[in-house]
Amino acid sequence: MQKKGTPSHPSAAGLAQAGHRASSIIRKTLITMALGMFGAAGALAVVQPADGNLPIIQQARQILPLPESFHASLAAEPSAESSPFIQTTQIRRGDTLADVLQRLNVSESGLLPFLTHDKSARSVYKLYPGRSFHAGLDSEGSLAWLRYNHTPSAIEDGQTVSKWLEIKPDGKGGFSASEEFAAADTEIRVSEGTIVNSLFGATDAAGIPDSITMQMTDILGSKVDFLRDIRQGDTFRIVYETYSHQGQSVGSGRILGIEFTNGSRTHEAIWFKPENGSGGYYDFKGNSLRAAFLRAPLKFTRVSSTFGTRKHPVHGYTAQHKGIDYAAPSGTPIHSTSDGTVEFIGWQRGYGNVVIIKHHGKYSTVYAHQSRFAKSLKKGDSVEQGQLIGYVGATGWATGPHLHYEIRVDGKQLNPQSVDLPIASTLEGGDRLAFNKVSNQYQGHFQLLASARAIPGETAQVASR
Ligand SMILES: [Zn+2]
Repeated sequence: MQKKGTPSHPSAAGLAQAGHRASSIIRKTLITMALGMFGAAGALAVVQPADGNLPIIQQARQILPLPESFHASLAAEPSAESSPFIQTTQIRRGDTLADVLQRLNVSESGLLPFLTHDKSARSVYKLYPGRSFHAGLDSEGSLAWLRYNHTPSAIEDGQTVSKWLEIKPDGKGGFSASEEFAAADTEIRVSEGTIVNSLFGATDAAGIPDSITMQMTDILGSKVDFLRDIRQGDTFRIVYETYSHQGQSVGSGRILGIEFTNGSRTHEAIWFKPENGSGGYYDFKGNSLRAAFLRAPLKFTRVSSTFGTRKHPVHGYTAQHKGIDYAAPSGTPIHSTSDGTVEFIGWQRGYGNVVIIKHHGKYSTVYAHQSRFAKSLKKGDSVEQGQLIGYVGATGWATGPHLHYEIRVDGKQLNPQSVDLPIASTLEGGDRLAFNKVSNQYQGHFQLLASARAIPGETAQVASR
């Protein structure tokens, strides 16, 4: 392994100049890496097409000096047992400090009172779910240091920095705490999984952080109804950023690419920033995924993912039942699937408390059986895609709490799951050309992953839970 500051890989610019030979060498290296440490990490951003001055190169430049921390991060990976003296845990919803310390196997007397009372440690008062703690323990199991990575990444003076609270024994039986920060290393990670029971089951098994899983469901929210459409055997590949400091992962960033196969359909999303616009996600054909309609009016969360269609009898779209039912506990928030204006809000026979939203063109959507409406929402109000409009209930003709959702075109109900919803926008001109290069690159990455898996005897780590 190389020392810091002497990267073992050529720079992105150098790579581009060196042309095909260099990139094919890198490509081979990559395959080896993909085989050896699949699912844990990857350095895919190192692969650059020979002809490209692509936006992604910016990304690569950021990453290239870090191959050694890429290896270090493997050692510090929470799931890896190779660092017996560094313990890592992520904050879970409802955690107390005592819970966190217990999971870290930290049992220093006086530490908990210090953390809860000392002003220098005040950033530990706020435990953000998903953020991480690291504890360094010596060979006797005594605490050497404790870190709370409360701010995995922040931009300061145009640089990405990571901020954390560092606690150390003061050598006199007490502790001292200080706020620290350092430039964060950005890394690109590649993971894939197969859904057996649930999306979270698969992403957990693949070591994918919750924030990345949630991004995935947001990004593909116009293509896949994650509450109803997920099937056993669905597969995904994700390329995403993570931030690390001194080889320790301190948080995750943005998804750069996804390929998601849902039943017989494969959806893909690539992060791209048009020249004069803000960045967003596009499919391989350059169509924006920020579509006019979301597939589902309920948000996918760790909790909602367990509602399941098996627990409650919920109807699909039939000749008699012209809508889609979502089983969900009473009080689950309901979100408008598209921009529009409130055409009706109130009681209708059968529907109970119902909101009808009129959208652009001939579309309207219906949200029935609500327990209550969003505060102060009224007829004529304009609503945005994703805006809260009410809460799941069992009003009207409903045997249990669920949301009955309809899409109407010219007032006629259509099957929300099969209706072809309008596309928001497509990249054109120079943006399209630039995008095509990025898109080809990612398609290559995904194919590389697929071929790595296909080599007999080398089993890629595939989530199977
Ligand atoms: Zn219904």
